[in-house]
Amino acid sequence: MNSPSDFDVIIVGGGMAGASLAIALAAENIRIALIEAVSPRAESQPSYDDRGLALSLASQRILISLDLWDAVSSSANPIEHVHVSDQYHFGFVRLHAEQMHLPALGHVVLARELGRILMERINVTKNIQFICPAQVKDIVIHPEQAEVTLLQDGNTSEITAHLVVAADGSYSPVRKILGIKTDFRDYGQTAIVTNVTPGKPHNNTAFERFTTQGPLALMPSTENRCVVVFTVASESAEHYLNMIDDEFLAVLQSRFGRRLGKFQRLGLRKFYPMQLIIAREQVRERVVILGNAAHTLHPNSAQGFNLCLRDIAGLAEILLPAVRDREDPGQRRLLNQYHDLRRPDQVQVTRFTDGLASMFYNDLPHKIWFRNTGMLLMDICPSLKKSFALRAMGLHGKQPAMVRGLAP
Ligand SMILES: Cc1cc2nc3c(=O)[nH]c(=O)nc-3n(C[C@H](O)[C@H](O)[C@H](O)COP(=O)(O)OP(=O)(O)OC[C@H]3O[C@@H](n4cnc5c(N)ncnc54)[C@H](O)[C@@H]3O)c2cc1C
Repeated sequence: MNSPSDFDVIIVGGGMAGASLAIALAAENIRIALIEAVSPRAESQPSYDDRGLALSLASQRILISLDLWDAVSSSANPIEHVHVSDQYHFGFVRLHAEQMHLPALGHVVLARELGRILMERINVTKNIQFICPAQVKDIVIHPEQAEVTLLQDGNTSEITAHLVVAADGSYSPVRKILGIKTDFRDYGQTAIVTNVTPGKPHNNTAFERFTTQGPLALMPSTENRCVVVFTVASESAEHYLNMIDDEFLAVLQSRFGRRLGKFQRLGLRKFYPMQLIIAREQVRERVVILGNAAHTLHPNSAQGFNLCLRDIAGLAEILLPAVRDREDPGQRRLLNQYHDLRRPDQVQVTRFTDGLASMFYNDLPHKIWFRNTGMLLMDICPSLKKSFALRAMGLHGKQPAMVRGLAP
């Protein structure tokens, strides 16, 4: 018989990635421990803040598979149109859901709301034990199991599992404990996230405007609010954060223009430094690195969590049938299979976001000409536009069963 401290899977990090994976794996009757350092109710919870998340069509399908979409959709705002432009230049790309015979190209949901929905499900799922607040202090990988040392209320204790998943964020303590190195790049940009009410209806349009100071995104939210991701050079971030609201609104307005009328009612401003962090190993015997711990991307095309959800769907597709057949979920063969399945998508999305970050943060004349001509071509050429749209919706290449509308 199993002791209460023996699990099949231990997930470290109960943020968006860890909580979603726990729910995906709980479909099989396995014992899951979900370890989280910060209470979901705490103001300081780093994953579930007031960030607006654009969820792709692929993510919607995964959330439908996990039976979470009904709850998410009640507070989500559809994206029916996308408008991408380059400030002061001629290029633009427009996408319309109707032209693609879809009700929406994606949806915007607040991270805090998604967190509430994930936690509600975790709390009623019997085979998930949510251990919070607790921190992982050590991990030892044995041939038959992984042993994890927890620090909770000043006391240490040991738990074991066949598989440990590190979903503990960009600066992953688990990665450090295991000595997994990263490729790191600081973009020298900081994203200031806030929200505004535009003077005109947003008509469910998402705007991405590239400027030489960095991209500016406005995503349509409920009650005609817009979630703003305003990127600035990191050395001037404090200057923008210290501005009084009216001054900040004026800067925002001049960067975006008058397309949505006058901006009013600025929300709280929060900042995030933009970095590229890629774990050099994503799987090891009895270990998987997931979410921001595996790949932290520039948010310029709203891909991070969408990519992570497709990774979760891929991992569930490999592990659930194996667990059903009473196989060991931590065995290297299965984890390699997961890595091979997901690697092409991860590489493509990473190159795409990284390429956008350097291509648009640049005012060399040949780069301006190249990117604007590229955007115009994309706008007028249906096959290029379709390929761009499929990528934005997470439907490019070979995708996991849940994205194809199948159960794993
Ligand atoms: C400005 C901005 C806008 C974005 N917009 C989008 C978007 O529109 N669409 C999209 O798809 N993605 C977007 N992203 C990316 C998205 O936010 C990330 O992909 C997502 O947060 C990854 O979640 P995670 O759970 O991997 O990491 P995190 O959110 O960092 O969560 C990690 C969790 O691990 C916990 N933890 C850390 N250490 C320990 C430990 N030792 N023990 C236990 N727990 C621990 C932390 O408390 C935290 O809860 C955006 C990102 C930014 C910065």
